[in-house]
Amino acid sequence: MGWPRLVINENKLRQNVNRVVKLCEENGIKVAGVTKGLCAHPAIARALDSEGCSWLADSRLDNLVQLRIILPESSLMLLRIPMPSEIPLVTRYTDCSLVSMPQTVSLIDSCCQSLNCRYKVIIMCDLGDLREGILIEDIPLMVNSLKNCSRVDCIGIGVNFGCFGGVLPSEEKLLDLISAGKIIEKELEKELTFFSGGATSSLPLIEEGKMPLGINQLRIGEAFFLGTDTTGMRTIPYLNQDVMHLEAEIIEVRKKPSRPFGKIGADAFGNIPDFPDRGNRRRAIVAIGKQDVRVTGLHPFDDSIEVLGASSDHIILDVEDSKGLIEIGNILKFTVDYGAMLALATSPYVEIDVHHPAG
Ligand SMILES: *Cc1c(COP(=O)(O)O)cnc(C)c1O
Repeated sequence: MGWPRLVINENKLRQNVNRVVKLCEENGIKVAGVTKGLCAHPAIARALDSEGCSWLADSRLDNLVQLRIILPESSLMLLRIPMPSEIPLVTRYTDCSLVSMPQTVSLIDSCCQSLNCRYKVIIMCDLGDLREGILIEDIPLMVNSLKNCSRVDCIGIGVNFGCFGGVLPSEEKLLDLISAGKIIEKELEKELTFFSGGATSSLPLIEEGKMPLGINQLRIGEAFFLGTDTTGMRTIPYLNQDVMHLEAEIIEVRKKPSRPFGKIGADAFGNIPDFPDRGNRRRAIVAIGKQDVRVTGLHPFDDSIEVLGASSDHIILDVEDSKGLIEIGNILKFTVDYGAMLALATSPYVEIDVHHPAG
């Protein structure tokens, strides 16, 4: 095993999944476990599955194909609207997709016709976040397309919050989702199985007893992995925030001036750096960089260490005030936020170490 390494405590992850699944269950809500934050890592997917997630969901087809192999019996959902070019594989490897375009529904239908199969979709509704989804006034066109596509089963309606526009979920917006679903039910003359009311950021509605009756699915990732709710700007009090951390190895420790000297141009990313003069200070470099991680999402365990910046392969730290043992070959630990986790899980240079500590 080498460094850098994202270390994941499977017990703490399972506790988080278990707590969220129970809380949702008490409120008549089933959980789709969202694996994209860790690129559908097998051990993580198994943990989500065995702790009670009724679906596994991911935004990338490659991840879902991997999940199909690891967990052949699980129900798999594609979270991102399928690309027309990937529909043949999507219908083969997954059970359901979120969709928002009538054309996508038609393309799925034609594909099913040639493969002699059926496929399920959940219609996404845009209630203000302005990422994907139909607006309420677009329902008739979508319903029309569904009526013409006999091999596509519309099993639900869903909404997304806080991903692009930063719009927060609310009781009011979810009541709008339910009304939209009722219109679709009436038009299609069948009941929808799922009213999918959002992601981690919808949990406060359950906690406050404000989740409208009728919402029966949430799609959860961040709460499991980090115990945080970025959109709601909070840590979730009943979950572990220390499921994972990053470890990186020190390759240089040196006292240096704090202000670059010489004629200043742009850095490797085209930005013109400006560092204040704090005199000579002890600095350390760890062997990981912007190619692997979103550096602003990292925080050293040792509070007295400051992240000064990074290039592609190096993170530069001010370690002047640290009481820890800062030497080359030593390992420094960092907490990660969602963006940092996502990048780390995607980098082939970062090891993912899922372990069960004793006890
Ligand atoms: C990523 C994603 C989720 C999960 O969001 P979390 O904030 O990680 O819980 C849910 N739904 C969709 C459509 C997503 O893309």
